[in-house]
Amino acid sequence: MRLSGRTCQAKAFARWSETSARLWKGRQQNVRKLIRRAAKLADDFAKWRAKQGTMQCDDCKFDPATRPDLAGIKPRSCLDVHHKNPLAEGKRLTTRADLALLCPTCHRIKHLRLRQSGG
Ligand SMILES: [Zn+2]
Ligand SMILES: [Zn+2]
Repeated sequence: MRLSGRTCQAKAFARWSETSARLWKGRQQNVRKLIRRAAKLADDFAKWRAKQGTMQCDDCKFDPATRPDLAGIKPRSCLDVHHKNPLAEGKRLTTRADLALLCPTCHRIKHLRLRQSGG
């Protein structure tokens, strides 16, 4: 049987798209896994800080507990967990020393500075 060039191309394309679909799915699963892992780490860190009684911004020392207008609002909702070494950069082990608790403003400044320095 004679295969025309077109059929061969179609078959090659089908093989290629099958492979890339598999790779893409794997990558998406990895990204989802990383996001889940990051969220879990951030939560554990915030819980640990709460237990230590240090639920305040590491940079400006903003402490939600001292604001009367925040009564009834969980301090955790007013603070972000910042990863000093982004997980996506291939670092497998994240320790507490890699994390910081920041108020949203200090967190934004941190990332603006990181971007400035090409990070
Ligand atoms: Zn702050
Ligand atoms: Zn951050």
